[in-house]
Formats: sequence, C-alpha cells, structure tokens
Amino acid sequence: MGALPARRISKTRKRIRRTHLKKEVPGMTTCPKCGAALKPHRACTECGTYKGKEVIKVEKTEE
Ligand SMILES: [Zn+2]
Repeated sequence: MGALPARRISKTRKRIRRTHLKKEVPGMTTCPKCGAALKPHRACTECGTYKGKEVIKVEKTEE
C-alpha cells in the first residue's frame, strides 16, 4: 500500500479533464482606428487612441 492512485487515469480521461483548463487568453486586441495589435485596456501605441479618443500624443514619423 502506497500513496499512489489505485487507478492510473487514462489518456482520454486526462484529456477530458483538461479540456476546460488553460483556455487560451488572447491577450491582444486590435485598434479600431488603425488596426494595430494592442494589449487590452491600453491606449494604442500607433495612433494614441483609447476608447475612441486620442489620449496620448504619438509623434508622426511620416510627412
Ligand atoms: Zn491605433
């Protein structure tokens, strides 16, 4: 008698159990204005827009 499980969980059972674990969190959103990839709840680093308002000044390298 040891501190081991009486039955080894089958590969299928293990996979079934893990189906709802580690759901991928995207972690990225896209700017609705310029389409740049962004972290959620952050102002856009490309155009400085957050929730439809320009909140930070982004220096333009063009023009
Ligand atoms: Zn943007």
